[in-house]
Amino acid sequence: MKKTIRDFDLKDKKVIIRVDFNVPIKDGLITDDNRVVESLETINYAINNSAKVILMSHLGRVKEESDKAKNTLKLVSLRLSELLNKEVIFIPQTRGIELEKAISNLKSGDVLLMENTRYEDLDGEKESNNDLELAKYWANLGDIYINDAFGTSHRSHASNVGLASLLPNGVGFLIEKELKVLASSIDNPIRPLTVILGGAKVSDKIGVIKNLVNKADYILIGGGMAFTFLKAQGIEVGKSLVDLDNLDFCREMLEKHEDKLILPIDVIASHEMSDNSDYRETFITDLKSDEMGLDIGSQTIKVFKQYLVDSQTIIWNGPVGAFEYSNFANGTKALCEILANLEAITILGGGDTASAAINFGYKEAFTHISTGGGASLELLEGKTLSGIDIIHNK
Ligand code: ADP
Ligand code: MG
Repeated sequence: MKKTIRDFDLKDKKVIIRVDFNVPIKDGLITDDNRVVESLETINYAINNSAKVILMSHLGRVKEESDKAKNTLKLVSLRLSELLNKEVIFIPQTRGIELEKAISNLKSGDVLLMENTRYEDLDGEKESNNDLELAKYWANLGDIYINDAFGTSHRSHASNVGLASLLPNGVGFLIEKELKVLASSIDNPIRPLTVILGGAKVSDKIGVIKNLVNKADYILIGGGMAFTFLKAQGIEVGKSLVDLDNLDFCREMLEKHEDKLILPIDVIASHEMSDNSDYRETFITDLKSDEMGLDIGSQTIKVFKQYLVDSQTIIWNGPVGAFEYSNFANGTKALCEILANLEAITILGGGDTASAAINFGYKEAFTHISTGGGASLELLEGKTLSGIDIIHNK
């Protein structure tokens, strides 16, 4: 068990909390503040326990000077202030006199947010390369380090691994929840455990398949990925997405785990991926040579449902259709609806899967929607996450 923020006396301490405020911004507006909302519990806990709260986060990538303006955390500080209903002191620096003064002037219960940690990447990628001098400088600004940035916990950066190696440390409530729900459901599931795997390419998910095929009772395969498996079975899949390099891998998986891997029996077929394209539902064996499968069909949804209603734990990564297009969103929506009505533990991991479910109105319908894209994928692959690994155990 990792130490958590609860294990520290925070009173009057300068507590550095690494949060994940890497939110999408379009035309000067935050289009989804979920990550800010998800960090409130830890920040409020620190405020209520009279800490002097110092927040750090990255936002986007900063490769050249002109990336700075579009990736400032200023907007996030305003949104955070609204959500906390409290002043947030924003310092447009990642180091320097102004920042140091503001920190030494903090009173217990105050909240300060410093500028995007990746501004430091302009100078030799110091943040992203976990530069020791930078980590030491930041560590001198605080007394305790709390990592709650699940979305970056698979990276080894100065603001997570670097700081944790230099200060007393623990995880925040968000990472604690991600570990409790996602990690423990993979390693110690209440069975039957059924995994829904979708998304575009097999190659993106090889690690996930290899790890989960030994842990899950069933794996329901949809999305573009299904067609490489179907082709490996000798089925003609037309113009559907096929990952020729991984045909052998799929064949081998099917031979070894025939009873575990469940493939679509029908699909929504079309000539193109667009909102206006003509489409038809067809059995997988009747797909024409100029058609591609872009969603699972109604018979497949029924088959998948039979497995899902008998499951105690369901982990879902990867949309089962090209859900961005209204014509091919039905399968993903239908699975959301099925999961929403089950008593089972239901967990979503993966950036696109989470945004699909949230956009379709199912944000509250699952036991847990993981906030990490890459990080949750690496947990599904059975990897340890460096930003969490370095946190001390109790
Ligand atoms: P996640 O981010 O949740 O891990 P992925 O990035 O692996 O998910 O997959 C999402 C992408 O998969 C979406 O852009 C979606 O359009 C695509 N996709 C799903 N089904 C198909 C399909 N049948 N053909 C082509 N692309 C598909
Ligand atoms: Mg994705």
